[in-house]
Amino acid sequence: MKIGRAVVLRIYLLLVMVCHSSGAFADDKLSGTVIGTKESVNYSTNMKSTTVNTCANAFDGKLETFFASYERNYTWAGLDLGSPFVITRVGWSPRNDSQGEGRVVLGVFEGANSPDFMDALPLYIITEKGKIGTVSHADVHCSRGFRYVRYIGPSNARCNIAELEFYGHAGEGDDTHLYQLTNLPTVSIHTEDGVIPYDKEHEIESQLTIISDDGTRLLSEPGSVRERGNASRNFPKKPYRIKFKEKQRVVDAPGKAKKWTLINNYGDKTLMRNLLAFELSRRLEMPYTPYGTAVDVLLNGEYKGCYQLCDQIQVQKNRVNITEMTPEDKEGDALTGGYLIEVDAYAWEEKSYFYSNKGNPVTIKSPDEDSIIYQQTDYIRRYFNRMESNWVNYLDQNTFLRHFLVGELSGNTDTYWSVFMYKERGDDKLYTGPVWDFDLAFENDDRTYPVNSKSDYIYRSGGSCAGNMSSFVDNIVIRNAAARKKMVEIWDEARQAGLTEENMVAWIDDMEKELEQSQKLNFMRWNIMNTIVHQNPRIWGSYQAEVANVRRFMKERIAWMDKRLNYTYHPNGISVAIADNEQPSMFFSLSGQPYGSYMNSLKPGVYIVRQGQTTKKIIIR
Ligand code: CA
Repeated sequence: MKIGRAVVLRIYLLLVMVCHSSGAFADDKLSGTVIGTKESVNYSTNMKSTTVNTCANAFDGKLETFFASYERNYTWAGLDLGSPFVITRVGWSPRNDSQGEGRVVLGVFEGANSPDFMDALPLYIITEKGKIGTVSHADVHCSRGFRYVRYIGPSNARCNIAELEFYGHAGEGDDTHLYQLTNLPTVSIHTEDGVIPYDKEHEIESQLTIISDDGTRLLSEPGSVRERGNASRNFPKKPYRIKFKEKQRVVDAPGKAKKWTLINNYGDKTLMRNLLAFELSRRLEMPYTPYGTAVDVLLNGEYKGCYQLCDQIQVQKNRVNITEMTPEDKEGDALTGGYLIEVDAYAWEEKSYFYSNKGNPVTIKSPDEDSIIYQQTDYIRRYFNRMESNWVNYLDQNTFLRHFLVGELSGNTDTYWSVFMYKERGDDKLYTGPVWDFDLAFENDDRTYPVNSKSDYIYRSGGSCAGNMSSFVDNIVIRNAAARKKMVEIWDEARQAGLTEENMVAWIDDMEKELEQSQKLNFMRWNIMNTIVHQNPRIWGSYQAEVANVRRFMKERIAWMDKRLNYTYHPNGISVAIADNEQPSMFFSLSGQPYGSYMNSLKPGVYIVRQGQTTKKIIIR
């Protein structure tokens, strides 16, 4: 019996080995016409060359010869295979010199069917140092066939590659399984003629590609890209605005749109602060919370880091959903909306802005600066001044207070540096929202750190950026009893609905896991973990320690807010019934440990159940 099983096992193993070997070696090493960046560098003269160290050297089978480009970035070497091949394996060997091993880290392989690589998809990203004098290999998991394949060197590497290899089999393949750099969706941008976005005005024609849903969903559409943002544009990791020619639904966004933002999160070393604030916005039931999801970004084959793919804040269905004005809306009811404005310390940098009577800078976001007419600018300026001096009648307290609570709960120094507000046609009130920009929140600003040690609201602290808005906010949340009462009601409602330490810690723990692979790549690309950037109050030294700082702050902040609002939390929201059986449920322990999606398999105890955006505590008896 024993012998029999051993023999069977041995035969089985042999079969596995045979199958595995034949699988691994069934695909040939491919050859083709060498293509790539034309200008190489002659290191002995440091001059441009087309004869020394050319891209042909990456395919000559010799480990001592190498390709080094004259330009330092976005340079590449590859093959025109003549017809499509499904690539199953790639190989690489670094140039044999002192920096060679490190120069391949974050090098990217791509495949395309257009010789300009505009339609390229990623095949593989190198995440470890290379080995000099040998060819390293990796399996490729991309089912589409490509005629053109290439390797793009990482930033500032001049490519510097001794040898490249591609293996595969002939065929056009299919799109059943494509490659994502990590568990996060991959956003890959290819610009026309390789132009790198360089300011906020020039939109660079591009092919915008997003691979999501574990490599099973592909969106690849023409559009454009440009830089975006204010302070965040000064960092080497640039924020971008992408715009599709036609409206698209990206990843799991609720609706279609042309414009989306790529938030760079350079100063936020947890890479999650904006997403966490959006979670608070949903929990405080802001009528609209911007969509956002973490992604990896490639630009012309170069890895740029972990970003957040987010809504552009604009007037549109699924975004700020108010009437869109036209230049014909000159008078009467038509002139009363909708307007999207931003109380914005950077207003003076915009074309369409005004200063209010009380000195607040206001940018008019919609109607946009190219189509707005004088009557509209005049109307919204007068209206804002009226609101400013008579907020009781003209400010919607409900959205203002919810927005205020998100700003305070997140400890955001910037809350009143920039506030989005909107006015709908035929509605006298000015509404506040959506929440936006939390880079400096959650204990990330040396001017207000440590936030919980202060006895008063952050907007009233010396380090806050509230400026002129401070006295406006005082009139509401400090001096008006009715508004204060309303604020506690909103807080109680959110607390009872699950805004608890346990749930927020569980959310942060989940997001930390979600970002684990991508944060590693991000900090390989941007070696700043031990450097103070932006307004960082201190160095925590690791990704885990950065996240722990936010986790600790969040827990303490909920208690701090209870105290400041003179509110006592009585948990009575324990429920056993699950409201919506249509949506999948996820169960977690109180400490955030996931327990899958089947209630029947749970032992008796207290759990947190999440359905869509709703979170509840349940008892299994
Ligand atoms: Ca070579």
